[in-house]
Amino acid sequence: MKMDLSGKTAIVTGGASGIGLAVARALHARGARIAVADLNAGSATEAGKALGGFGEAVDVADEAALVRFINKVERTLGPVDIYVSNAGLGVTDGPGWGAGDAPNAAWDLCWQVNVMGSVFAARHLARKIAARNGHFVITASAAGLLAQIGDAPYSATKAAAVSFAECLAITHGDEGLNVHCLCPEGVNTPLVQGIEGGAQGLGGYLEADEVAQILLKAMEDKRFLVMTHDNTPGYVATKGQDRD
Ligand code: NAD
Repeated sequence: MKMDLSGKTAIVTGGASGIGLAVARALHARGARIAVADLNAGSATEAGKALGGFGEAVDVADEAALVRFINKVERTLGPVDIYVSNAGLGVTDGPGWGAGDAPNAAWDLCWQVNVMGSVFAARHLARKIAARNGHFVITASAAGLLAQIGDAPYSATKAAAVSFAECLAITHGDEGLNVHCLCPEGVNTPLVQGIEGGAQGLGGYLEADEVAQILLKAMEDKRFLVMTHDNTPGYVATKGQDRD
């Protein structure tokens, strides 16, 4: 039987586009009310409204703004059952850059969004979601499992994001938190279309909807971590805490 999320509340960050939007739609299709937090105010508002909740401009790297948003979700939609920490970005290396040559500002930005965005949410919600036997999802990247050339701040911070997902699971798994870490290799979204110059030539890339279905399956099975390194769905048990 398919997972029924009727009456559940989900927050999706970066939910106005690409993977986040596909995940938000897939959760809503199972009955969840969706709150969208995204830098893009217009698309966030539109998506939230269409998916039974609301959306707002929120920078996940701004803890105070994120907490205000979480409080509003709890007040208006009810306690949070599912948190999808999906907002993320990379900074493309300049020509000839060595691994340490990206400016400090690029490292800071990737760290704040790709890592602290999840840390801030966990600080305020991990225990509450665990008490409801809910789900905390982090969209990391295959680059966090195997570094990608020319993308040091992205790869290194995505590796930290994978590690933080493991930290969440080993710390709060026994309290009832189900943690899933998405690590896709290449997904056809506006992010890569911008870098790769259009949807053509993205052979081997997954569609965002396919990633959303992989995640739903992991949630349904309450599998501890889901990795899609090389875009092959698979499960990795971490520190013996595979929840099956
Ligand atoms: P996307 O650009 O289509 O969507 C990302 C969304 O995040 C955008 O709507 C953007 O406005 C929002 N966002 C960015 N920074 C934010 C912030 N500080 N606060 C709130 N919202 C913010 O990109 P996507 O491909 O769907 O990427 C989603 C996630 O998937 C990212 O974490 C990305 O690193 C990861 N990822 C993507 C791929 C891929 O091939 N597309 C592969 C591996 C991992």
